[in-house]
Order: sequence, then C-alpha cells, then structure tokens
Amino acid sequence: MSDWEKYVKKLTPYVPGEQPRKKDVIKLNTNENPYPPAPGVQRILEDLDAGSLKKYPDPTVHDLRCALASYHGISEDRVFVGVGSDDVLAMSFITFFGDAKKSVAFADVTYSFYDVWCRLFGIEYERIPVREDFSIDLNAFDGDRGGIVIANPNAPSGIALSPGEIAGLISAHPECVVIVDEAYVDFGGESMLPYIDEFENLLVVRTFSKSRALAGSRIGYAMGSKKIISYLLAARDSFNSYTMDTITQRIGIASVEDDEYFKKRVSDIVKTREVYGKKLKDMGFSFPKSAANFLFATHEKMDAAGIYEELLNRGIYVRYFKTPGIDNRLRITIGTDDEMERLCIALKDILGI
Ligand SMILES: *Cc1c(COP(=O)(O)O)cnc(C)c1O
Repeated sequence: MSDWEKYVKKLTPYVPGEQPRKKDVIKLNTNENPYPPAPGVQRILEDLDAGSLKKYPDPTVHDLRCALASYHGISEDRVFVGVGSDDVLAMSFITFFGDAKKSVAFADVTYSFYDVWCRLFGIEYERIPVREDFSIDLNAFDGDRGGIVIANPNAPSGIALSPGEIAGLISAHPECVVIVDEAYVDFGGESMLPYIDEFENLLVVRTFSKSRALAGSRIGYAMGSKKIISYLLAARDSFNSYTMDTITQRIGIASVEDDEYFKKRVSDIVKTREVYGKKLKDMGFSFPKSAANFLFATHEKMDAAGIYEELLNRGIYVRYFKTPGIDNRLRITIGTDDEMERLCIALKDILGI
C-alpha cells in the first residue's frame, strides 16, 4: 500500500439499481415513475435561455421553497431543498447525528443508504430487526438514541406505519432528531407533516424522484420546525451554497404548480399496482401490502434469483438484493399497464404457466 493510501477513507458505497444503456428494455428496478413529469416542465425546457446560466443560481432556492411552502400550507423558513433527497438525508445525517454520543437507529431492512452515510460520517448506528413479515417494530427502538430514521412507507417492503404510531415514537424520544423519509408517501402512506408543529425534533423528507417523475432532475426537500431547518441551512452553507442549479429550481416549481396532473398520475400508478398485484398473486407471488410504487414479491415455487436472471434475459429489469434475509425477494416497480402486462407474459413463460 502506498503511503498516501493509509490516509484514504475506505468505503463500501451504496449500489444503485442499474441504468441500462440499451433501449427497448422494461425498467422496473429503481422505482422511477413510468410517466413523464408535468407538461409545465416540458415548457420550461423548451423556453430555456443559455444566457441565464452565466449567473450563479439563487443559493436560497427562494422561489421553489415558497412554492413548496404554499403547497403544504407552511412558511418558507420551514422548508429545506436539496439535490435529491439523498442530498437532504446526507446533510441531515451529518448535521443532526454527526456529533451524537449514542447510536442512530433504523430498521435492518430499509433504505440501504442509511448505514452507508453513517459509515462515511463516522456515526455509530444500530440496525433494529424488522418482524418476520418485514413490518417495523417501533418498540424495539427503545432506549436513549443519537437519532432515529424511519422510511415510511418503508423500502423495499412497501409497508406503511400510521402517523399515530410514529408520533408515539417521537414522543418517547425527545432526546434526538427523528427523520421520517417519505419518498413513497404519495402512493398510499400518510404523512407526518401535520406533526411538525408539535415536534421540534421531527424532520420530514420528501423527493420529486418517484411520485413527481423527476428522478433525473435531483430534487429533494425537508420540512420541520424553523429551528431544525435553520440548522440544515447552516450546514448546507458550510458545505456548498449552490447545490441546486437554475434550471432545476424552475422545473421543480412547474411540477408543484400542476397538482391535477400530479394527482392523476399517482392515482394511475396506484390503480396499476392493485390490478397487477392481483395478477401476480394468481401466479403464485406474495408480498406485503404495498403503500408505495413497488411490490416486494416472493414466489411460492421458483427462487427470486432465478426469476431475476430470466427476466433480465428477456429485457426486463427488476431489483434483486443478494442481502441475507431478503435474498428470495424481487422488488418490482409499478410501470405502465402495458409494461406490467409484458412483465406478466414473461413471468408466465418463466414459470411455465
Ligand atoms: C429513492 C429513495 C430516496 C432517494 O431519492 P432521491 O430524491 O432520488 O435522492 C430516498 N429514500 C428512499 C427510501 C428512496 O427509496
């Protein structure tokens, strides 16, 4: 090992789902939205003026924060915006957990970036085992904590907790910040947003990547008490003031302003989830009740790894985790009806039914 390598931080990074270069594949592996973003986003892109890029973007992301604040009925100083919720979450981990003297708790089956950030930032953490049915056991979060992170609905299970249950958890933990990652809440979960007045230590994190079909633009945000948001803003301005570019700020506003389109597309996806969930069950699959835009499925006869490979051979990408405990499951993103139909045809072929 060369001298300088002794000082390098050795990391095991998060492995995102594949983004295939081939066209003509059915991509049901990263929980992207199968529909385009709001038409207003298209208009922003068509009207772009390259000259506007000679200036730095608004470092406060004022207009987008105001649009989000007004959408959610809160004041702008209670909204923090970042480059995808991964950026918001990473910033939150370093801000609220970076100097914690106790371990940060999250479920052992949840978004697998949480432990990656903890290791990057040198934060002690404890993974709390989920129940056999993958549901989160909030009682097991007992004890003094340096922080708590709950994805609700959880990934990759799709299972939602009720806001009341999470409120109970926050009441029991006034000593630390509780982050609720609501990446999938629009597809059937219930938000913790109504509780941000009651709990100063609650941070609700959202993304435009799934329900708003803007994964490529990288927009995430957090809402909470004025105090908790002010700490995040201070951290961001100690790191990089210009995280979000000018075009993305405008795209975000166009998306928020078209609520009718947003609600229609979300309800289309929920309908497809219910219709094709039933068809998958008829084929011998089972999965927890999903409040998200994916199903966490296992098959009664064929193992998940085999189905994954066979689907891949047919140009259909779903997510398979080799992780012990979930290695006989496929996380299948809900696509359009047409994509789901083609998935079903391929599955029947693979399963010989
Ligand atoms: C997709 C996802 C994110 C990250 O979303 P981005 O906004 O695209 O960074 C965060 N948390 C969970 C649980 C997710 O599934």
